[in-house]
Order: sequence, then structure tokens, then C-alpha cells
Amino acid sequence: MDIHEYQAKEILARYNVEVPRGGLAYSPEQAAYRASEIGGSRWVVKAQIHSGARGKAGGIRLCANDKEISEAAEFMLGRKLVTAQTGPRGKLVSRLYVEEAMDIQREIYLGFVLDRKEERVMIVASGSGGMEIEEIAEREPDSIIRAVVDPGTGMMEFQAREIAFGLGLDNAIIGKAVQTLMGCYRAFRELDASMLEINPLVVTRDGRLLALDAKMSFDDNALFRRPQISELRDKSQEDPRETFASDRGLSYVGLDGRIGCIINGAGLAMATMDMIKIAGGEPANFLDIGGGASPERVAKSFRAVLGDKNVETILVNIFAGINRCDWVAEGVVKAIREVGVPVPLVVRLAGTNVEEGRRILAESGEQIIVAETLAEAAEKAVAAWKSVTRAAA
Ligand code: GDP
Ligand code: MN
Repeated sequence: MDIHEYQAKEILARYNVEVPRGGLAYSPEQAAYRASEIGGSRWVVKAQIHSGARGKAGGIRLCANDKEISEAAEFMLGRKLVTAQTGPRGKLVSRLYVEEAMDIQREIYLGFVLDRKEERVMIVASGSGGMEIEEIAEREPDSIIRAVVDPGTGMMEFQAREIAFGLGLDNAIIGKAVQTLMGCYRAFRELDASMLEINPLVVTRDGRLLALDAKMSFDDNALFRRPQISELRDKSQEDPRETFASDRGLSYVGLDGRIGCIINGAGLAMATMDMIKIAGGEPANFLDIGGGASPERVAKSFRAVLGDKNVETILVNIFAGINRCDWVAEGVVKAIREVGVPVPLVVRLAGTNVEEGRRILAESGEQIIVAETLAEAAEKAVAAWKSVTRAAA
């Protein structure tokens, strides 16, 4: 689960990370009022969406008076911002964060992630902040410092100091950098975060060290024990297709193609998506119905996939081990009769009770295109999709 920048800053401030003074605003008037509360002579108006790279998309504006603040707020509120990270659908701006502007001397990148290979928390830092980490990795790979934390001891001060020195920070600010690093690590561990990124962490001309931007994600599997974190969820920032599915316990990722997929097992789902592409189509989603799926669960999956108006063909691909082909077939027939499937439907079943499953499909009298192998299923799905799009044209 992702949270907003202002929420991440509120959390980090409680862990001794210094952040600029700021306030939330829902209207241009409120934005201007927030600025007057904060004081000073320059402010930054920041669109609160679950995405980075807002600056380049017009979601970060430096302002010097009320008029500029109101104009920036008016431009951003209610707009769907499309950044390099949101996908073409963009994300709706309904909250703004107004902050005192900082006089920046240096921008630093700081990230905490779970490194799967090391099976540990890894700190990634670079003196070349302000750009996205992918860009830093491409342009200045040598500037990147990586450090792995031993879970037995937690992050040690000497390790934080080493990173701070590695970034070439002045002696006067090393203590603050250590405090920041230790605080971030503690927040990451105590709140079950899966990612924490401060980009940029800045050194100001008057020698302060502050998190100018902050991004945090949390482990969905740990949310049950973090009620204060799950309260921060903003469903308006999520893909509605994914929210619908996750509320029903389905594992679903929305994509931009036209062929809806209902599959068991993440590996088979990935393979099926590849096969669709090879056959010349594009998947509309990744959906894993999991093991032991009941007919009801299969019907629910159809609802989730058909909720996406882009879907023009559905491919069901089941390799039943724990699952049962007869249940899946029953679910398919149930979905056709109860939900209605107004697009071509290709079904490939293999594994447990496959004969029974195929018999249920054949005897249903419904229009179902059956396939024996994965390759055949993908080809038939793409062919069916092409014939509907041709017919529509
Ligand atoms: P992002 O584009 O979504 O990552 O948003 P950020 O909060 O990181 O802001 C983008 C960039 O705007 C930063 O890297 C800074 O260069 C600039 N910026 C943000 N806040 C301030 C500020 O208070 N003062 C100045 N001078 N620049 C700022
Ligand atoms: Mn940023």
C-alpha cells in the first residue's frame, strides 16, 4: 500500500527526520491561507498523488505570492496528472500540500528497500539527488552507495556515519545525517514498510538537512497489525479495477491491453501474458484466482475482468493441481449465465478432473471456444479478439 507525501512526512517527523513546515489544502483559498500560516516569502504547492516525478508533470510549483499559489492550486486540483510513473490513465489530484520553500544547496537521494537477494533491508544513497534513481543508476552509477543492515543488530550508528561520509557531507551536518538515517530505518522496520524514499534529501544554505520529498509503501500482508497505517489508505489513488479485485481477495493487476485473463498461479499468469503478446495481442490484466477456486470465486473473477471496459476478449487458462477443472468449468458457466459475458471467451483446462471440466463446458450449450494447449489458447484468444475488432470496424 502506498501513502501520500504529506503522510510519509508526518510519520518521518515522528522519527526525528526534519521536514519543512507545511499544511494540507483542498481549495485555492485554503492553499493561500496555509501559506500565510506558514509564513515566509516563498512556498511550494505540491500535488498529492501516489506518484513521483510530479515536478516534470506540473504537479510541483514554486510560488512567491497569494496569486501564484491560488493559480497553482487551481491548475492542479481536480486534474488527472500523468507522470512517468502513473501510466496513461494518470492520477486525480484532490489534495495539495503547501510548504515553505527551501534554499537548496545540495540534493541527495536516499532510499530504503528490501533486497530480495540479500534478504535484508538495503540502504541506497547517492549525492546526485533530484533525479529518479533509475536515471542516477544510468548516468552516475558510481555515485550510488549501497549498505545492507544486519537484522540481528539493526542499523548501527557507525554504518549511518559511513554513509554520511560517503555522501561527502560536511562535518557540521554528519550528526543530523546519522539521526535521519537511524530514524528512517526505525520507521521502516517498526511500521512494516516495504519502501521508503527521500528524494531529494536536501542540505540548505543555512546548513539544515531536510526531507523535501518522501514516499513510503507498506507490506500489504502486515497491514492487519498496523491499523494506524491502513487508515492512511486512499482508494481514490488506486486503479479501481485493482481495488474491486483486492476487496474480494483476488490478486489482480490492471494493464492497458484488450484481452482479459483469468488464470491460476502467478507463474502461469506471467507465461500466459507472454503467449498473448507473442500471438500479437495485449493482456488487459493479470489475475491469479489462486488454488482451490470455487465456482463462486471464478464467477467473481469474471466480474472483476468485465469491470474493465477495455476488455474485448477473455482467456481462461487453468492448470489444475490443487484446483479442479470441473469447479472452474462450473464457475465459467455460472459466470456466463449470471454475470453475462458479452465478449468472446476462450477456455483452456488441464489437470485434475479435466475430462469432467470439458464435459461441463461442452454440455452447457454456451458459446465457449475451447483450447488444449497454452499456445493454442493464446492464438485463439487473439484471433477471436481480432475478429471482433474487425467486425466493429
Ligand atoms: P517529485 O517530482 O514528485 O519527485 O517531487 P519533489 O517533491 O521531489 O519535487 C521535485 C523537485 O522540485 C525537487 O527535486 C526540487 O528540485 C524542487 N523543489 C521542491 N521543493 C522545493 C523547495 O522548497 N525549494 C526549491 N528551490 N526547490 C524545490
Ligand atoms: Mn521527488
